[in-house]
Amino acid sequence: MPIAIKDIFCTRGVKTTCSSRMLANFVPPYDSTVVKRLKDAGAVILGKLNMDEFAMGSSTENSAFFKTLNPWDTSCVPGGSSGGSAAAVAAGLCAASIGTDTGGSIRQPASFCGVVGLKPTYGRVSRYGMIAFASSLDQGGPITKDVTDAAMLLNVMAGSDPLDSTSVDAPVPDYARGLKDGVKGLKIGIPKEYFIEGLDREVEGAVNGAIDALKASGAETVGVSLPHTEYAVGVYYLVATAEASSNLARYDGVKYGLRVDNAAGLLGMYRATRDRGFGAEVKRRIMLGTYSLSAGYYDAYYKKASEVRTLVKRDFDEAFKKCDVILTPTSPTAAFRLGEKVADPLTMYLSDIFTISCNLAGIPGMSLPCGFTSKGLPIGLQLLGRPMDEATLLRAAYTYEQGAGWHKKRPAL
Ligand code: GLN
Repeated sequence: MPIAIKDIFCTRGVKTTCSSRMLANFVPPYDSTVVKRLKDAGAVILGKLNMDEFAMGSSTENSAFFKTLNPWDTSCVPGGSSGGSAAAVAAGLCAASIGTDTGGSIRQPASFCGVVGLKPTYGRVSRYGMIAFASSLDQGGPITKDVTDAAMLLNVMAGSDPLDSTSVDAPVPDYARGLKDGVKGLKIGIPKEYFIEGLDREVEGAVNGAIDALKASGAETVGVSLPHTEYAVGVYYLVATAEASSNLARYDGVKYGLRVDNAAGLLGMYRATRDRGFGAEVKRRIMLGTYSLSAGYYDAYYKKASEVRTLVKRDFDEAFKKCDVILTPTSPTAAFRLGEKVADPLTMYLSDIFTISCNLAGIPGMSLPCGFTSKGLPIGLQLLGRPMDEATLLRAAYTYEQGAGWHKKRPAL
């Protein structure tokens, strides 16, 4: 399969920039485990794909190099941060692509571009050689034209890795095998906290249509509650920025990447390098994270956020006692226009409201197409599963996809 890779995965001998000036000329001497496994399985690596700088963003407009357009409407963003990965699959530039998801970066662009995106359980896929943003949240996964391809690629990517101590040592089931088993008796949880004010009417309509279709295929629905949902965005922007500020400390002009030597001594070199190398959003996150980790604020911010994160996780544990999968919209809206949110970070952050809890809880999630707006923009359906239960997500997704057939629609380029 000809596959393209988000430019956050190290590729031996091929530039890996994270769409940052800091790494504009960085050529890794090794392959990330994900890329190595794909190559070993016979995949052809076509090239590297644009993204928000260091995966921070929801529109790919934070790339230091160029903007990626949405193939369905080139005045719209492709989503982010794996916007290049989703747009390339939608436009047919590659058979499939690989992305990463820290707070929605696989699922939201998949939703905006009308393709399938899967964020596996934390630890299911090795993070070795995947440039770190927020290490307790980051996870790589496939972006594909349909559910079958997602299952096939997950088979290749998943599994423990001695080079990543957080990878889970558990057998990898054959994800493609159970796809056709149907959803008879499957319990689908519908969380009331995800069907709220601000949810676009057309998105709500399409998601409700998918619920009806799954019921018609034999699934049952049950109302569930995830009461800590309202804190998820706040918790995420403390935990993710704290981890980012720590991870990005390594870009100091000494070890690798950009160096701006202005002869003002070591500290001057650090400052000049980091000032020139990082874009505005990355600097904003480093400052937020450094602040919340600083002495006197740590207990009030980072520690508190970590405690609330546990409550978010427990919400899912409770909900999964009543259901096998949880169904929600992937994003409150379809793709927004280029430039529409980029000047207002808070509005941009809020667009991830439905995808972030999944990363905080470490559970698997996926997005697949469930219709189009009246303007012809794709709408995404999100399925969330129990830890390590990607197989059930894929089976439910496949059942819906085969009945609905949205995956056969391609943008007219
Ligand atoms: N949009 C979110 C952010 O900006 C999530 C990004 C991601 O999943 N990498 O942090």
